[in-house]
Amino acid sequence: VRGLRVKYRFFGCLLFGLLFYMPGFCFGQDVYNEQLNRGIRNNEPYSYILYKKAAGDPADARQLLSDAVKHSPDFPAVYFALAWRSFSISPDGIFGFSHYMMEGIGAYGRNFWWQTGIYGLFYISFLLAFVLTVAVVIAIRLPMDIELIRHDIKEDGRNLFMLGIILVFSFLGPVFFLAGALFVLGFYMKRLDRALVYVTLVFLTFSPLMLSASNRFFSLPAPEMRAIVSVNEGHGNLYAIDVLKGRADFPSRFSYALALKREGRCDEAMEHLKALIEATNDPRPYVNLGNCYIAKGDMEAAKGLYAKANEIKPSVRALYNLSQVYRTTFDYPKGDEYYLKAKDLDRDRVIRFTAISSTDPNRLVIDERLTKDEFWKFADGHVKDSVDPFTVNSYVLVISALFAIVLFFILERTVKNRAYRCVKCNVTICGVCSSDISWGNMCRECYTATVKLGSKETKERVARLLSIYEHQSKRRDTIRLLSFAPPGVAYIYAGRALLGAILLCIFLFFLIFVVLNPLFHTGLYGFSHKWLNLPLVLSMIALYALTNMVVKRRLDAGWL
Ligand SMILES: [Zn+2]
Ligand SMILES: [Zn+2]
Repeated sequence: VRGLRVKYRFFGCLLFGLLFYMPGFCFGQDVYNEQLNRGIRNNEPYSYILYKKAAGDPADARQLLSDAVKHSPDFPAVYFALAWRSFSISPDGIFGFSHYMMEGIGAYGRNFWWQTGIYGLFYISFLLAFVLTVAVVIAIRLPMDIELIRHDIKEDGRNLFMLGIILVFSFLGPVFFLAGALFVLGFYMKRLDRALVYVTLVFLTFSPLMLSASNRFFSLPAPEMRAIVSVNEGHGNLYAIDVLKGRADFPSRFSYALALKREGRCDEAMEHLKALIEATNDPRPYVNLGNCYIAKGDMEAAKGLYAKANEIKPSVRALYNLSQVYRTTFDYPKGDEYYLKAKDLDRDRVIRFTAISSTDPNRLVIDERLTKDEFWKFADGHVKDSVDPFTVNSYVLVISALFAIVLFFILERTVKNRAYRCVKCNVTICGVCSSDISWGNMCRECYTATVKLGSKETKERVARLLSIYEHQSKRRDTIRLLSFAPPGVAYIYAGRALLGAILLCIFLFFLIFVVLNPLFHTGLYGFSHKWLNLPLVLSMIALYALTNMVVKRRLDAGWL
């Protein structure tokens, strides 16, 4: 990062100094060629300056941004800026907009830091949204349902086991405490809503896996990792030469040799590549060694190495390089033959190779590079344990979670006479203390007052009806108020836990994504995935407005 910043400052000074003396275009072309000649396909600091300039110069914005794309074809933010600049309400405008949006999303696939950044952000947002949703469900339901639990314990002391479950779960950590509380609340949920309990317990079963995956994301930006990605994706060589020196593993040594070669230190590079060829059966060091021979002017040695590499495993780069060497040595029929072979293997790549082709050895032939899978594998060797919200090891955790699933399944089916509330007056009753259960979730008093007319004194009946009315309108007011809370909260309060939790989880996911977005920078001056903010905020507003409207409608229709 410091290297980049220094470079940025350097280019910034140069640019602003030179703007007064010579046309910017000339300068841009020089930088472009100078960088490509060092194998640097993505000159992000320079594109960043153009990007910033475009923001303050609407008249030339599109030209500046197109230049920025040329200097850094794997830099998604520039495509998104271009998309907005191209947008207008016309077929051309809409086509331009969607074209550049697609290009921007495509650039993610070629840019490791942007891609892992957005994966990490999705993942963390989902995890946090889920845990928060469960916490909200408990925060709303527990104060209301605690009375039911108390009633059940009073009726039958054996029901104390429910408090025992929460206690045992709490020993395993805060996330388990939430699961334990939900476990007990699950008994008082509607049948279908209990899916929420199962999903939470399954989530818990997989939590050790999820935790190691998130540790993976947070361990990524180790210096060696940054150096390897930087060389292989063509962002720069100097940092890698600095950091990777003396490392013996394949990815480090391969990348180190590549950086040396691109900076013109071919003899050193060849030493490392020859050692890699000795040690592995990987065809890629052959190709890059061939490229070193090209830089030293030995075409014949290069041909042999490319052919050998292609023999081990067909490679678009080896074939393309062969075609380039044959053409340089004026053997055009052979050159065309290999060119077609390369094109058959991967047409898009060959087009990209041709676009940057020149007589410079770093552009005449193309270097082999490491794949994203290899980046990940290398990163896994550097995973450090970070946060751990559990106090026990993962085997105990998985087994307890599985045991909890089985236990809930059995108890949910076997335990009868759970306490519930009278739908009319909210008093707590159960099958034991009010044996006649044909009243439809009503207490005896409410039943006689509203259904079994004439069996009570009129005065008493009116009093009961008044108290029912009072309770109902209070509940209605609360729900009306909660309809302005985040989507789903009103549903959870009204006893529809599953639907409420789904709505809330989606909303929280969007919210957390937007809030955390600036933290997941992409390796470049705090650039974030901010192109996603607008669609996400719009979805949040739509979801909020929609649920608010539905809750009010259902209230007016008598739904509680
Ligand atoms: Zn009642
Ligand atoms: Zn009872």
